[in-house]
Amino acid sequence: MAEPLRHPPGTFDVLPGESAAWEDLLALFARVAAAAGYGLVITPTFEDIRVFQRIGESTDVVRKEMYDFVDKGGRHIALRPEVTASVARAFIEHRPPLPWKAWYAGSNFRFERPQAGRFREFHQVGVEAFGSADPDLDVEVVTVGWDFFRALGVTALEVQVNSLGDAKCRPAYRELLLAYLRDRRDELCVDHRARLEENPLRVLDCKKPECRAVTAGAPRQADHLCDECGAHFERVLGGLRQAGVVHQLQPFLVRGLDYYTRTAFEYAGLALGSAQDALGGGGRYDGLVAAMGGPDTPAVGLALGVERALLALEAEGASAKDRRRLDAFVVDLTGGEAARDLSTSLRREGFRVDRAFDSRSAKAQFKAADRSGARLALVVGPDETEAGTVGVKDLTAGGEQVSVPRSGLAAHLRAVLG
Ligand code: AMP
Repeated sequence: MAEPLRHPPGTFDVLPGESAAWEDLLALFARVAAAAGYGLVITPTFEDIRVFQRIGESTDVVRKEMYDFVDKGGRHIALRPEVTASVARAFIEHRPPLPWKAWYAGSNFRFERPQAGRFREFHQVGVEAFGSADPDLDVEVVTVGWDFFRALGVTALEVQVNSLGDAKCRPAYRELLLAYLRDRRDELCVDHRARLEENPLRVLDCKKPECRAVTAGAPRQADHLCDECGAHFERVLGGLRQAGVVHQLQPFLVRGLDYYTRTAFEYAGLALGSAQDALGGGGRYDGLVAAMGGPDTPAVGLALGVERALLALEAEGASAKDRRRLDAFVVDLTGGEAARDLSTSLRREGFRVDRAFDSRSAKAQFKAADRSGARLALVVGPDETEAGTVGVKDLTAGGEQVSVPRSGLAAHLRAVLG
């Protein structure tokens, strides 16, 4: 016997019912993003691999985790490991007028070791804003994510924020950090001992206890900002305070990808364990568009993990409500035509209606109606057909079946369902 077919490691299925929470989450993000003037952008899930190589040659995401292949046309393709680079590519390709504010939702692919909250195909929602270096735009972006999480029901939430400086002040800080780390190279984890020179900032991001112990006393970028970056950061922090966004300075927050300048931030879900508490993050990436061959364009954005957001909700004990409840279930005792025609016309009038198939017995149809979770059963038997009526029975509150003329059914349902 062949092995049964199963989903690949690191992926999952979301079935109807469970997916209600996903639908709600996506609709909510769309609403919060639109309220701040962001429009939906849709880009391909795969791109020329160079689109992603530009975002961080020294990062694990690009070095080790990309799903890439040569397609039948001989093109070197990668499934996207994140969306920002694709949106930046689209921006450069289409040159929309500035400021350009876009939101997205979709899957990303990373060849990681699957574990709780870490998948090989995972989903993100996010926003990107191109064309302004104004720190108030950083505040807007952080606040969009904050307001989204709060509206979703995640309450144990904190934003960690840092400034990474810019091309003017980061090189000097990098040297300072490198000198500090070189003196302690032997105490670092094996990986970072080898890769220290390539990108010392990465060490700050390392979760291994050896590296943590070393970096605890390391110089901090926030103490070595140039005047412009310092003023920018002050304005961001003031704006977050003003917006009521609970935040904390995290001096060693560097983010996974190479392209960030100035503001970097992450949302921490305080109800989750440290391996999965990163609910999302983002930052300013003023250098990315130019690095990808476009015009010099400042930009800032965020990406939130959908699976992580749902895990955070679960950890806080907030069960997602299933709002996709059926209004009515048609029970047809005349052979099926009434069920077919009544369900079609009621659906067209805006009701959520289901029915049983295969000419089941009355008992089986009532059982199916109960199981469906529908609020009402609409019963059509020979008497109702004759009289032009429908029997309406409340399945949740109980009570007698009432007879309603077919012509007044929609109005009756609206009144009953509120
Ligand atoms: P990153 O681009 O790595 O900063 O990811 C942004 C957010 O996406 C993270 O904070 C997580 O919430 C989520 N995320 C990243 N990688 C994964 C993964 N492999 N599985 C599930 N969620 C992920």
